[in-house]
Amino acid sequence: MKYWNPYLETLPKETLCKIELSHFRNILSHAKTHSVFYQQKLKGIEPEAIATLDDIKKIPLTDKEELRKYQEIDPFPYGGTLGIPIENVTTFRQTSGTTGKPVYVPESYESWQWRIEVWCHILYMAGFRPHHRVFLPFGYNVYVAFWEGHYASEKLGCEVIPGGALDTKGRIHKIIEIKANAMLNTPTYGLHIAEEAKKMGIDPASFKIDRMLCAGEPMPTATRKRLEELYHCHVFDHIGGTEPCAWAGMCEAKEGMHIIEPFFLVEILDRETLQKEVEEGDIGVAVVTPLGRRSFPLIRFDTKDLVVKGKRSCSCGRTTRKIKEVVGRIDDLRKIRGVLFSPKTVEEVIRQQFQEVEEFEIVVERRGLMDVISLRAEVDPQLPLESIEQTKVRLAESLKIATNLSFIVIMEPPGSLPRYTLKAKRFKDLREEMK
Ligand SMILES: [Zn+2]
Repeated sequence: MKYWNPYLETLPKETLCKIELSHFRNILSHAKTHSVFYQQKLKGIEPEAIATLDDIKKIPLTDKEELRKYQEIDPFPYGGTLGIPIENVTTFRQTSGTTGKPVYVPESYESWQWRIEVWCHILYMAGFRPHHRVFLPFGYNVYVAFWEGHYASEKLGCEVIPGGALDTKGRIHKIIEIKANAMLNTPTYGLHIAEEAKKMGIDPASFKIDRMLCAGEPMPTATRKRLEELYHCHVFDHIGGTEPCAWAGMCEAKEGMHIIEPFFLVEILDRETLQKEVEEGDIGVAVVTPLGRRSFPLIRFDTKDLVVKGKRSCSCGRTTRKIKEVVGRIDDLRKIRGVLFSPKTVEEVIRQQFQEVEEFEIVVERRGLMDVISLRAEVDPQLPLESIEQTKVRLAESLKIATNLSFIVIMEPPGSLPRYTLKAKRFKDLREEMK
């Protein structure tokens, strides 16, 4: 079978739009009658008045900050964001809290199953099948993506091996011991496992991993290709978040990602005004409404993810809309000496041209009146001294070309930069702290 849901994945555009509009009205009506937050926020907006997809643009966006604020009231810990009686909550998850106080996300059994179904679409699209033995090299704690991947793999008929409570070496031995042939991991940790395996004298390609789905961090194409080379496997990306769920995934064509329609209504809006839908090929902010989850209703959630709007057609035959590329988080974009800078560009350059660089960190600080940007890089310890010097010079040149900014490049001793299993924090803007 080519698709997880052959009916939904090949519906004509008009039918998809019709279903999404009708589901949008239903979830809006549910939110307004069951969540204190939306009762107050959307006073005066009636679901019956939403007759077209354009009418949706009249409804205000939902921001993460509002969710935090409304979680301070009763019932603890979900407060006014809860869309069902608290007795019906069966699953607690939360955001990682990297940008402040975490948001707590309640799921009922029904809404959790909805999330798993969405993930089945994502994994099936990435070629996961019942013959796969899926290894998850993490303790997933309260973070949602790997739990979703875990249960969706099961639902697909794969065999799932949780890899928590082991260190990286232990996980490498486990992959070999049980002959895992698929993995779910962050891109950073995928690279780290490969680096560690090589140090142990093991070629990561000898694991015979066939499929890898990455989660947790934005992944530049160069990083995805690097993982494919290291493991000799197919690597796929997806995009999502704890609050809205994963909402787009990559198919085997590996050209952008399919929005999981009609589970979500996704708008890609002009980033200045947050009002108009952008044209195909343009960058916009993804605004997402999950259409079937009642426990934690979200109406027009501003994901703060910048994406390039793609087309609807794809060689895989799916008719769902696509995003061409994920540009990064709007929170990560910075003005440095008047130049708009995204840390993703640096990762792209390093993974594409500097395979000897094993880890890196970008630091922006203010010295006097000047913004200074530095790259701290750690290279393969086998590299001779003069090659390290050459890498340093090449890094400064390539980064200047790619970003229009002059970097101070500092070569760090092996093992001095932090390694990450979950979300990597390679970008530090110290200017805020210095104010
Ligand atoms: Zn496709």
